[in-house]
Amino acid sequence: MKRLFAAGWIATCDEAGTEHESGWLLVEDGVVAAVGGGAEPEADERVDLGGAVVTPGLVNTHHHLYQTLTRARAQESDLFAWLRELYPVWSRIDAEAEYAAARTGLAELALSGCTTVFDHHYVFPRGSTGLIEAEVQAAREIGVRIVASRGSMDLGVSDGGLPPDELVEDIDAVLADTQRLVAELHEQGPGARVQIAVAPCSPFSVTKKLMTESATLARQLGLTLHTHLAETVEEEAYCMELYGCTAVEYLTDLDWLGPDVWCAHCVHVSPDDIVDFAGSKTGVAHCPTSNLRLGAGIAPVREYLDAGVRVGLGVDGSASNERGDLLNEVKQALLLARGRGGPRAMTAREALQLGTRGSASVLGRDDIGSLEPGKRADFAVWRTDGLELGGTDDLVAGLVFTAPHRVDRLVVEGEDVVRGGALVHADEDEIASAHRAQARRFAR
Ligand SMILES: [Zn+2]
Repeated sequence: MKRLFAAGWIATCDEAGTEHESGWLLVEDGVVAAVGGGAEPEADERVDLGGAVVTPGLVNTHHHLYQTLTRARAQESDLFAWLRELYPVWSRIDAEAEYAAARTGLAELALSGCTTVFDHHYVFPRGSTGLIEAEVQAAREIGVRIVASRGSMDLGVSDGGLPPDELVEDIDAVLADTQRLVAELHEQGPGARVQIAVAPCSPFSVTKKLMTESATLARQLGLTLHTHLAETVEEEAYCMELYGCTAVEYLTDLDWLGPDVWCAHCVHVSPDDIVDFAGSKTGVAHCPTSNLRLGAGIAPVREYLDAGVRVGLGVDGSASNERGDLLNEVKQALLLARGRGGPRAMTAREALQLGTRGSASVLGRDDIGSLEPGKRADFAVWRTDGLELGGTDDLVAGLVFTAPHRVDRLVVEGEDVVRGGALVHADEDEIASAHRAQARRFAR
């Protein structure tokens, strides 16, 4: 069955940045069969886009879906104080709450044009089960792709770490559970809908032994590897005191950096660190709103891009963003780069590339992130006839400058996930009310 999406402005986000202002996209068997402008090819069904903009589905490279349960807490705190207030609240999480939170976070992301979500879950209270399975189920129901990580913390406060002792786990249990989840859930190859990544939480909540053994396991199993890194000045001071070096030096010493690795934030880095990221092909998940919300600082994204570092975007957890709107994060990345480096520091199209092909590359995925023949048919359709884009001739730049927008249609593997601005496979109001019922259990 061939479906033709015609009469739209197609921003392919391929390497050359090709756009077709009066373009079409031909989809067959869940894959992009062809894309172009001018004469339309034959198809079984023709969908008229009415001048809408089509972009690749956005790809989120850092999140903590469970945090939708605890928004607007610790409102004036830095990262460490914010975590200390929230860890005890999060210690009550169970599969039911995780499912409700994941449905909310994934629905928000889908409605903002996101087709693939990475989630970094690292809170596993003693005795809890089914947390990762719950978020994978939510992603399957809503229809988006998920890369779920089996995160971990094993450095409790009594050993000099930040998290309370009741939230840290035993190394062997972490590694065994990771292997179990990989065996049960991980898909390989193009079009994978569910993948598992290995993601010890951060240098201040994980021992050197668990960092090292996590990397060994990930590389044995061919999984990607992720952690938080160099987010705040407090983290830098902590690493200096505990390890006698910066966070990036610490990861380098552990032989962690590499093409299979991406790190969240990477705000407090030196020019040499940027060279090391480029040389080792380590990726960066840039989370602009979260960095602003926690007053963490501004990541040197222009320098990363100029050095050839892979950079993608993340909304980060919903307790530090507080939204899960990825198109808005594209705009935030643009504004933050300009606030730091002036009006030529980043173009609107570069920002869009970060959230699409950049993010896909960070996740190690070459089957998504751009609209080219052979790539999966994951894309977002944005209406251009509403109030916000009136007066805009350059609709692609306008989409970014005037964000956020609710996506009109979202397609994953050729199938509609959002149509007419509404979820196809789930009820937004039901998700919101079920989430509120769960969130009450975490109230202050
Ligand atoms: Zn995070």
